[in-house]
Amino acid sequence: MVSLSDLLKQLDVSLETYHQSTEFGPGSYAAELQPFVDCEEHLNSSSVHGDRGDRKVVAPDIIDYLRDGLRRTANSKRHQFPLPVILNNCSSPKATRQLITISEESHALQSPQSARVARQIRKKKNTSIFQKCYRLINNQFGGEMAQTKMSKNSIKFRCFWKTTTIYEVLKARQWVETESELDWDFFWSDVGWMYEFFDHIHLADHQRFNHFRNYYELTRKDFLIKNLKRMKKTLEKEDKLEEAANYNFFPQTYALPAEYGLFVEEFKRIPGVWIMKPVGKARGRGIFLFTRLSQISEWKKDHRWKSENPQLYVVNQVENYIVQKYIESPYLIGGKKFDLRIYVLVLSYAPLKAYLYRSGFARFTNAHFSMKKEDIANKLVHLTNFSIQKHAPTYNSKTGTKWSLHSLKMHMITKHGEAKVNELFHDIRSAILRSLLSVQNVIIQDKHCFELYGYDILVDKALKPWLLEVNASPSLAADTPQDRELKYGMLDDVLTLVDMERRLPTQTSLQVGGFDLLVDQGATESSPKTVPSLFSYLGCYNDRDKQLKQMAKAQLASG
Ligand code: ADP
Repeated sequence: MVSLSDLLKQLDVSLETYHQSTEFGPGSYAAELQPFVDCEEHLNSSSVHGDRGDRKVVAPDIIDYLRDGLRRTANSKRHQFPLPVILNNCSSPKATRQLITISEESHALQSPQSARVARQIRKKKNTSIFQKCYRLINNQFGGEMAQTKMSKNSIKFRCFWKTTTIYEVLKARQWVETESELDWDFFWSDVGWMYEFFDHIHLADHQRFNHFRNYYELTRKDFLIKNLKRMKKTLEKEDKLEEAANYNFFPQTYALPAEYGLFVEEFKRIPGVWIMKPVGKARGRGIFLFTRLSQISEWKKDHRWKSENPQLYVVNQVENYIVQKYIESPYLIGGKKFDLRIYVLVLSYAPLKAYLYRSGFARFTNAHFSMKKEDIANKLVHLTNFSIQKHAPTYNSKTGTKWSLHSLKMHMITKHGEAKVNELFHDIRSAILRSLLSVQNVIIQDKHCFELYGYDILVDKALKPWLLEVNASPSLAADTPQDRELKYGMLDDVLTLVDMERRLPTQTSLQVGGFDLLVDQGATESSPKTVPSLFSYLGCYNDRDKQLKQMAKAQLASG
């Protein structure tokens, strides 16, 4: 072990220069670290301003990394080196290893505006790892395996969006693109197509489509809560009280206008801040916070109560909203609120089979969190939606507002220790699983359907997760190279799991790329699926490249 000052001496970088160096000033940090930078507490810590004592200790195995980083810092004005994160807490070798991973991640993250980096990533990632490995290894086996599988060139895909990552991933798969309404093998669409065609057509066995027929049972805000409440009640009726009590991960919610009376009763019992959200809108539109019932009655009279949907307007129907208890003590980093975006792939509802992607991200607000009366109406303080935050006067398009789930987890570990943070991530995993269980008998099972969901989770100060929403069409647009890398890898793994090429083993895999098995109710004696229940890989290092290579190898070796 060596102290930072020893290390700096060793590296011939004087502490003086280090203090003065603007390279370590706030402006130079990677986008991922922006919330850190704003955190006063952190800015005042010795790790940012240099090692004034010998408190921060660095394990030898990161010396080379630091040396390399500092050299590059000296060589490049633009270089961003996340020293504070590495040095924040290197007390145990395990934490150090984890912190190195953060630093490597952040290190890879240059300015999103760097066209060179974007080009590099594009170049590097325009390939499907599993496909590529499978082909390479197959060639070594004399190419026999390919004869027995569905050839990639015979798979016809159709994609509704031509400018997002999914289109790139599908192209890289080297399937054949088609615009045909019905003659496709794989179709990635918005939900609109389904309303128009799904009930009137017959799909062949192998055709796959990316939504379930009544997907909205999980993804419409009011239906989600209705299903969660119903599940809780059913469990209570069946005397499964312990499990029923676990359905406590959604804020108290009422559907309006139907449950207005019930809400008023509850509001009188638990006043404070509540939040109104239109059920059919996304990206923070139509949302507002309130503290007095009169604000709702005033608003009810207002035109906003009427739907923006002209059809509803004509028949004088009100727009459906939910009113929900506002989480007043969110977990803050750098004084700012964030929520988590987590990806879940459901391959089947009966039996339930789903995977959880281990990478994701936290979306931060630009403004500092405040529950002061005068800030209640400020969306920049309370809503983490990117579509809202990008309009903030302090929004920096170079740094963005996202932080990787992995970095967040590591940051939290340095603050609260591994056990507490693992418990939090395990609770998030359990909440996701329970939300799926609550709709599994409601959603119409169809072997042609699969669905990728984007879960929005808020964590509070007590490290308790709250499920806010499930998105049926999570944004697949990438705003930084890092975002693109995450989405590209995740979507490539979705395609591997949907398995149009029929290359996956017949037994359910515990891990496929960055996806870890969440549940497989179809597991049999011969393929026992011990889904580890006390641990979650969520936010762990994503070793998808390695896993896919191993899987391709094992698959070919087993014939
Ligand atoms: P949308 O579909 O419009 O994004 P969400 O339900 O995801 O609606 O809410 C938008 C944002 O508002 C969330 O990302 C979160 O930051 C904030 N938010 C929503 N509900 C709550 C709540 N109950 N407590 C605290 N913050 C909330």
